[in-house]
Amino acid sequence: MSRAEQGRLTVVPRPPPDQCGIILHPAGHTRSPAMHNAAFAALGLQAEYRAFDVPPEGLADAIQSMREREIRQLAVSIPHKQTVMAHLDEVEPTAEQIGAVNTITLRENRLVGSNTDWLGAIQALERETTLPGQQAVVLGAGGAARAVVYALCERGAEVLVLNRTVERARDLCQELGAKGFGSPDDLEEIPHSVLVNTTSVGLSSDESPVRATSLRAHSVVMDAVYEPAVTRLLRDATERGATPIGGKWMLVYQAAHQLKLWTGLDAPLDVMASAFDED
Ligand code: NAP
Repeated sequence: MSRAEQGRLTVVPRPPPDQCGIILHPAGHTRSPAMHNAAFAALGLQAEYRAFDVPPEGLADAIQSMREREIRQLAVSIPHKQTVMAHLDEVEPTAEQIGAVNTITLRENRLVGSNTDWLGAIQALERETTLPGQQAVVLGAGGAARAVVYALCERGAEVLVLNRTVERARDLCQELGAKGFGSPDDLEEIPHSVLVNTTSVGLSSDESPVRATSLRAHSVVMDAVYEPAVTRLLRDATERGATPIGGKWMLVYQAAHQLKLWTGLDAPLDVMASAFDED
């Protein structure tokens, strides 16, 4: 006799959805929940992705809570990418070399730190160019710069690092094996075929980190900033005859690698890119 015929409804308990998310501070608008939740839905995963506002003094508690609540994966954003490393059970060698973790994955009750920003940067750049032998300039010397410089060196490009605080550019250059360093004002004098902005200049503003006249025709210009989707730098690059790449692509590809780290599944890139556009 079926359950319906018995006249009783048996409720079969379903396991709660897996929890994932991003920690950042201050928690302004982030497109990560939209991208990941769209990917979960497309893949039929019972999972939820949320943004958590975690100030620096709350980081230890947040990581402890990840352990207790068995949160499967946390993306790590500003300002925690370096400080979070001390709270983990293991940091993958690449993230150790870059000196920044942007992903924590729960694996057999251990919290493992990885960096997917560098993979996202490579794939975004490779949409428009090959990297070995390119003369590349990276603007900035913060967390994103570390991942991008590592990526470009790893792919065999010659890399110069230009930063407002030149000492930081020097330290990063020496640590990661770039060819030289300087200030963003030096760009006018530097021939280059690839330029990547990893400073926060242009974020929610109409500023560019460099003068338009220092941009080269036929070069590839990528902006890690993705808010707005088309920054002043990218507009200037297009006008100068360069090929622009928006920060959206670095974000989408690095998120796809995060999903793969947790689930082992190939991410639906188109779905994630559309979710970015629509959010
Ligand atoms: P960060 O560690 O705080 O570094 C900020 C960098 O910007 C430093 O080099 C800083 O120079 C420079 N800077 C800040 N204000 C400046 C100004 N007014 N003039 C000149 N330089 C200035 O930040 P981050 O984590 O590297 O992130 C940087 C940007 O990349 C953010 O907009 C972030 O959203 C974006 N990002 C995008 C992706 C992606 O997937 N698309 C991934 C990671 C980050 P000083 O050293 O002189 O202070």
